[in-house]
Amino acid sequence: MFSFDLSPEQKEFQRTARKFALERVLPRAAELDRKEEYPADLTAEAAALGLVNVGIPEAYGGLGLGMIDEVIIGEELGYACMGFFTGILASDLGIVAIKLAGNEEQKQRFFPPLLTELSAFCLSEADNGSDAGAMKTKAEFDGDDVVINGAKMWITNGGVCQCYVVFARFEGEHKHAGTVCVVVPADAPGILVNKLHGKMGQRCSQTAEIVFENVRVPKANVLGEPGDGFKIAMKTLDRTRITVAAGSLGVARRALDESVKYAKVRHAFGKVIADFQAIQFKIADMKIGLDTARLQTLYAAWLADEGRMIGQASAIAKCYASDIAFAAANEAIQIHGGAGYMNDFPVEKLLRDVKLNQIYEGTNEIQRVVIARSLLK
Ligand SMILES: Cc1cc2nc3c(=O)[nH]c(=O)nc-3n(C[C@H](O)[C@H](O)[C@H](O)COP(=O)(O)OP(=O)(O)OC[C@H]3O[C@@H](n4cnc5c(N)ncnc54)[C@H](O)[C@@H]3O)c2cc1C
Repeated sequence: MFSFDLSPEQKEFQRTARKFALERVLPRAAELDRKEEYPADLTAEAAALGLVNVGIPEAYGGLGLGMIDEVIIGEELGYACMGFFTGILASDLGIVAIKLAGNEEQKQRFFPPLLTELSAFCLSEADNGSDAGAMKTKAEFDGDDVVINGAKMWITNGGVCQCYVVFARFEGEHKHAGTVCVVVPADAPGILVNKLHGKMGQRCSQTAEIVFENVRVPKANVLGEPGDGFKIAMKTLDRTRITVAAGSLGVARRALDESVKYAKVRHAFGKVIADFQAIQFKIADMKIGLDTARLQTLYAAWLADEGRMIGQASAIAKCYASDIAFAAANEAIQIHGGAGYMNDFPVEKLLRDVKLNQIYEGTNEIQRVVIARSLLK
């Protein structure tokens, strides 16, 4: 059995996400971007509509949606504002880590608050991004507790989340084998949030440095076994990269829609610019990129839902979808001419926003490393 049709339930998620994205998020996106303002109210609305942390299993009160469902929702939210979607996408990182590595007691404890609130995923450090296994943040067991010291950088939802999923290392332990993953409540004593300002795009997403000073939580908050941290991080990212691809599809589709709209009304040399083959080819290339990226993204999501190996497929989806979305946003500006360079039109924001999709959750160079390794091993 093979079908490209969405199920009735998936069509309903798509309708709900599209309506919310177009009516609630899109009209405010430019202003939130200008003011660098985090829209807590919109996140709460999205949660109430069942668009946040959708992967929490039904057994814990969630919707238990699969990756294909997440792709459908992600494309709609990315269409309206990639920055807004990044808050939701980053929370998904925490959900996936708990789902993959948490025990029953931990799922019962950690999931319920995340039905309405966000999590944050603390892997990157100022000196260790791509080489996350070289992390310096320290973990130490002390009686029944684990004590965390160090600093994590570029943390989305830092300061606006309910909990942090933190990766740290036991002193003296070998690189990957010495890492641990710990769920830390956001109000734990010793956490300092330094909000980061001045992002190029996705300016309504909250990004922060999170400092941990003798932060103490019970050992019962360690996901998996001590030593599993790096593995949990990599397995989590394999899945969530598919949602980065989904948001990128949204940006690419928006770039295409804005380009078509503008090309039909802008006149030059006595005709609409849509009559020029140079413009038509740009639009055709955007559509080729969008449709092929969507196929790869849905394929990676399908593999994930089937419980199959996804590392290579999700790396291709993330890398390709974000690359074509960046190219589409760039060409959308070109089609708008000088007007496209100004923030009166939405296309310059698309470019600034989608640049990040090529960087976070593993840069596109790292995705190519993953793909090449899977072929050459
Ligand atoms: C706005 C924003 C939000 C973010 N949110 C989060 C978050 O919520 N949680 C989190 O943990 N992190 C987050 N990040 C961090 C992000 O994942 C890292 O920035 C990213 O992984 C790259 O790491 P780096 O910045 O240290 O770059 P570096 O690792 O220093 O890389 C610099 C350059 O070198 C290249 N490079 C490095 N190693 C290789 C290699 N082996 N082969 C080829 N090229 C290589 C990279 O591709 C890149 O072009 C966020 C970042 C930003 C900007």
